[in-house]
Amino acid sequence: MTTTFYAPPERIRDGMIDLPEEEARHAVRVLRMRPGDALVVVDGAGGWHEAGLVETGKSRAVARVIRTLREVGESPFEITLALALLKQRNRFETALEKAVELGVRRFVPLVTDRTEKGGLKRSRAESILIAAMKQSGRSRLMDLSEPVTFDAALRLDADLKLVAHEQADPASSLVRVLAGPAYPEHVLLMIGPEGGFTEEEVTRARSAGGRVVSLGSRRLRAETAALAAASALMLWAEAAPTSVSASAST
Ligand code: SAH
Repeated sequence: MTTTFYAPPERIRDGMIDLPEEEARHAVRVLRMRPGDALVVVDGAGGWHEAGLVETGKSRAVARVIRTLREVGESPFEITLALALLKQRNRFETALEKAVELGVRRFVPLVTDRTEKGGLKRSRAESILIAAMKQSGRSRLMDLSEPVTFDAALRLDADLKLVAHEQADPASSLVRVLAGPAYPEHVLLMIGPEGGFTEEEVTRARSAGGRVVSLGSRRLRAETAALAAASALMLWAEAAPTSVSASAST
């Protein structure tokens, strides 16, 4: 299989790709790639470039684009996943990585009433996003916003706003909401912290037009809830007749 590398759009010009230093070092020193070798370069903005190496140095690798495809691995269905910051950063980082694999478009760290001190290391998070994009065969970097409050997240634009709550009536299962007549193109999915959402937050969510949904009769850890719901949403959307697949632009 051809190895996939990452280069942001500004490093791709006139059909030539100048790989970032770290990516170039990996290609040349670790994989011992040489001019003539084939590679795939994703630009994180929907571009998937099949290319051939033309020049290598110790920490330099330049490739010529052979063919560009757009939106490989991307779904026209948009999920914005708003997950409360967690006390254990590693659990939050796992959620970030898996959200990329599941095709989530945008990830919003939430600060809620019961959010405990946890936080997020931006530079670590960014390397997780890049590695997961390459590994999962996506061409877009998942957008990771700065942390926002619960109320600000409720104001985000979406056709359907889902608030997962373990005390929701099992009759309002996520699956039942999706079986409704409207076909949303952009879903906002909100998941609470270890201590869950407060009743006041649930009330505010309802009055802001949010649907409070159950993810089943077991209590899931926050990151499990986020991934289970994102996975159900994406499978449902990609099985719908309106979904389209990646198309070639050149
Ligand atoms: N407060 C709870 C646990 C919260 S679980 C307690 O200690 O009993 C963390 C988050 O995961 C919740 O805020 C919710 O968004 C989501 N979640 C977990 N299990 C769920 C379920 N069965 N249905 C809906 N959401 C769930």
